[in-house]
Amino acid sequence: MLSERDRELIAAASEAIKQRYRYDWQEVGAALRTRDGRIYTGVNLDAYLGRMAVCAEAVALGRAITDIGETGIDTIVAVRHPKPTETDREVAVVSPCGSCRELIWDYDRNARVIVPGDKGPTITTIGELLPNKYRRERNL
Ligand SMILES: [Zn+2]
Repeated sequence: MLSERDRELIAAASEAIKQRYRYDWQEVGAALRTRDGRIYTGVNLDAYLGRMAVCAEAVALGRAITDIGETGIDTIVAVRHPKPTETDREVAVVSPCGSCRELIWDYDRNARVIVPGDKGPTITTIGELLPNKYRRERNL
């Protein structure tokens, strides 16, 4: 079940991408709540050279760390803005990509993540989204 605070986070991510949507360049927004309760948002940075693209979650995390330092991630969510041709769709919660799952885990292995569910957005944890995470050494 989503809490009021979770819905507030979805609204913040949605507002960020609605403000900055640009076809093929900015289509995903993200919002995270730091462990000390602050909300940071970001939008994705697509790039002509695809591998230079940066996800919205990474931008939100970068803004948080730049502003207040590393405080951990309580909860994070990403939302996708529909393209102009997708007139039957609205801004909707999307799952973090594999790279973002690694990133989120690295910065808070207990982070809650809002993901799409059968009956609307739902809560999971980064540990559930990323079992058997890559590690350089055993038993970390
Ligand atoms: Zn990603």
